[in-house]
Amino acid sequence: MAILLKGGTIVSASGRRQLDLRMEAEIIQEIGSDLAANPGDQVIDVQGQFLLPGFIDAHTHFELNNGVTDTADNFTTSSRGAIVGGTTSIIDFATPERGGTLRDCLAEWHQMAERKTSCDYSYHMSLIEWNQQIASEVPLMIEEGISSFKMYMAYDNLRTSDGAIFEAMLAIRKEHGMLGIHCENGDMVNELIKKLVGEGHVSTHYHPLSRPDSVEAEAVERYLMMADLAGLPVNIVHLSTQRSLESVKRARDRGQKVFVETCPHYLVLDDQLYDGPGFEGGKYVCSPPLRSKADQAYLWDNVISGEIDTISTDHCSFNFKGQKELGLLDFSKIPNGLPGVETRPILMYSYGVATGRITLEKMVALLSEKIARQFGMFPQKGILQVGSQADIVVWNPQGKGVISAKTQEQAVDYTPFEGMETVGSPRQVYLRGQLVAENGKVILGNQGRFIHRGTSDWTC
Ligand SMILES: [Zn+2]
Repeated sequence: MAILLKGGTIVSASGRRQLDLRMEAEIIQEIGSDLAANPGDQVIDVQGQFLLPGFIDAHTHFELNNGVTDTADNFTTSSRGAIVGGTTSIIDFATPERGGTLRDCLAEWHQMAERKTSCDYSYHMSLIEWNQQIASEVPLMIEEGISSFKMYMAYDNLRTSDGAIFEAMLAIRKEHGMLGIHCENGDMVNELIKKLVGEGHVSTHYHPLSRPDSVEAEAVERYLMMADLAGLPVNIVHLSTQRSLESVKRARDRGQKVFVETCPHYLVLDDQLYDGPGFEGGKYVCSPPLRSKADQAYLWDNVISGEIDTISTDHCSFNFKGQKELGLLDFSKIPNGLPGVETRPILMYSYGVATGRITLEKMVALLSEKIARQFGMFPQKGILQVGSQADIVVWNPQGKGVISAKTQEQAVDYTPFEGMETVGSPRQVYLRGQLVAENGKVILGNQGRFIHRGTSDWTC
C-alpha cells in the first residue's frame, strides 16, 4: 500500500517546494503537484509541515564498554531515541580488541545491532593498531560496505603512533575510503591530568583545563600535515575550538580537502557548566570538553559560513547516578560522553533555524545530505527525490516543548539539555516508507537495517 503525503513543503539542501509525495515498497515513487490518490493509497494531510530527508548521525557510540563500565544505552534504546527525534540513520563505531581482526570485530557489531535497532545503521571501523593483518583487511571492509575508518590520537587504550596513522592513510587512500580522527594530544592530556590531580585539583572545574584548546589544535595541525603528506582528504570529528578551525583553514588555503564535524553540545553549551553546584559538572564531561562562549560564537559563525560541513552528536550515554559518579573524587575517572542522538534535530532547529542563524536548507545539508554524500549513502539517503529511500521526517514548525529526561525515549537518567525550550518538532518519522515514530512516541521499533555504504564523495 502506498502512502501519499499531500500539501507539504519538501526541503533539500538547495531549496524548497510545495509538492506531494508518494512512497511505496520502501522508495519514493513519485513527487509532483496535486498528485491524485490511487485506490488503496493512504492519504496523509501534511499542509503547513516540512518534509525533510531523515536525519543521519555520523557519530554515535550506541553500545560500548569504556574499559570500566558499559554505556547506559544500547542499540535498542539509543535507536529508539534516534527515531523519535527524526534520525533515521546512524553510523556507529566498531572497535576491535588489540590483537583482533577487523572481520571478527565487524561480525561482533552486526551481532549487537541486528534486529535490535530501530533506525538504519552502519559503522566506522576503528583502527587501534596497525599491522600486516589489519592492513590486508582494509579492502575487505570496503567490500563489506564499511568505507570509513576511525583512529585516535588520545585515549591510551585506543591510540596509535603517528607512523601507524600515516601508513593507514596511505592504505585508505588506495581504497578511496574516509578517515576520521579523534584529535587531542594524548601525551599532553596524560601530563595535564597527572599534574592537576597531583595538586589536588580533582573537581569537574579542572576537566577542561586538562584538555585545553591547544591540546586539540596541536593534534589537528599534526593530523592535517600528515594527511597532506599522504594526499588523503580527511575528516575531523567533534571539532570544538577556534584554534583547531584556524588550522583547518590554513590547510584548505594550501589546497587540502578537509571535512569538519562539530556537535550540538559545542554550539549550545559552554564550559561554565563545569562549575555547577555539587557534582552537576559531571553531567557535561566529554572530550573534547565544552568550550568558552568565544569558541561557541566562532563555531556558529563557521557553521553559517560553511567552514563546518556536518553536525553529528558523539552520542555516548552514561548515567549520572552510579556512572558519572565514578569520578566524584577525581574528574579524570568520570566516564566521558554525553547523550545526544535524540535531541540533535530539535536543538539545531530551535537554536539554528528558529533563531534565524541558519536556513532550514542549511540544516538539511548539515544533518543529512552532506553526511550521506561524505559517507557513501547518497542519493539512497540524504535527499527526498524519486528513487531514494523513503526516510522522511514530517516536521511541524509550530511545535513547542521543553527538553527533559522525564520525557526522553533513551534510557540514560539525565539529559545535558535539561530545561531547554524548543521550537518545531518531528510529527511523523518514516523509515523506508514505514511509520516508525509519531509525536515523540515509537510506533514501530526494530526495523533498522545495516546500510551497505559505497565509497565517499571526496569532492562534496
Ligand atoms: Zn566519539
